[in-house]
Amino acid sequence: MDTDMQRRLADLLHHRSAGLEKGDPVSLPLTTSTSFHLPEVQGAPYIYARNGTPTWEAVEAQLSLLEDAETVTFPSGMGAISAALFATLTAGDRVILPSDGYYVTRVLSEGFLAPLGVDVVQIRTLDYATADFTGAAVVYLETPSNPGLDVVDIADVCVRAHAAGAIVIVDNTTMTPLMQRPLDLGADLVVAADTKAPAGHSDALFGHVAGRDARRMARVRDWRRLSGSVPGSMEAWLVHRGLETLEVRLERMCASAAVIADRLQSHSAVLALRYPGLMDDPANALSKRQMQGFGFLIGMTVKDATLAEGFLARCPYLVRSTSFGGTHSAGERRARWGDGVPEGFIRLSIGVEPVEALWAAMRDALN
Ligand SMILES: *Cc1c(COP(=O)(O)O)cnc(C)c1O
Repeated sequence: MDTDMQRRLADLLHHRSAGLEKGDPVSLPLTTSTSFHLPEVQGAPYIYARNGTPTWEAVEAQLSLLEDAETVTFPSGMGAISAALFATLTAGDRVILPSDGYYVTRVLSEGFLAPLGVDVVQIRTLDYATADFTGAAVVYLETPSNPGLDVVDIADVCVRAHAAGAIVIVDNTTMTPLMQRPLDLGADLVVAADTKAPAGHSDALFGHVAGRDARRMARVRDWRRLSGSVPGSMEAWLVHRGLETLEVRLERMCASAAVIADRLQSHSAVLALRYPGLMDDPANALSKRQMQGFGFLIGMTVKDATLAEGFLARCPYLVRSTSFGGTHSAGERRARWGDGVPEGFIRLSIGVEPVEALWAAMRDALN
């Protein structure tokens, strides 16, 4: 990790310290009030909780340090994605989306943007490398893609999209700002589901949009206030706590994922394995250049659905749930949602269990 990121992480842990008065609570108070003392409107830091609350602002201060950009928080990743799309697209615009990315973004766009007159075009993540973006208003991408773990060159897409007059929105959920910095690579907006690793304990839905263009971010903020897509105080408080340990959790999760991926790759029951950190993974070279880590997600393919479900059922240390990025390792057969992957494809999210205990359980479940 570079010294700049080290300083930002230390600043994140101490972002409240400088403002503390004698006797103030050191940890963030959870403010649930929806109204604020307002003898007159001018100069009040808080007006009404749909406009802003001290608890959201504390999380936004943390996320802004990580993103090095203005951040607006939302009640879920989809809340953030909706805000980014509805704040940037109008009738007659074209949006390019990944056909193999997070499926709810596609369903939202087909179901609600297309009927409003937005031309929704889907292409495969790998095809972003060669696609012609002429006529697009928004190029939206996800890298590594969920669940296939294909990687796109963000800087290259940004240059080509900007030349075509489009803006670029990147869903950075799988990497978090600690391992991938789309805004530094030229993206206009980052969206992310903080439900995953940032919250980290599978107990809060949350999301954010980050960007460096003040006018565009003002529209995102207006969308939140006017649509009412506002985060709950309790969730904001939980994410604030989660962000304090994000770096140490990621360190364990990614180190374990590298060990597990390496061992799974040489297991006879595994037909195919995707992990960007493996030397022979198709995304390895680009991942090394573009990411500051290889993440904690592994795509593993076994013979068929029965073997995949049996493996998940037999392994005591893999939670059988959708979602990822939590403290508990988790696994899911993605074809059950209709993702375009083989029947025996499992997305593994590696948690913080000691790696040898986790591996022993996975190996026994596979054998
Ligand atoms: C989970 C996820 C989302 C949606 O987040 P929610 O908090 O569930 O709304 C969006 N994009 C990606 C890549 C995700 O994994």
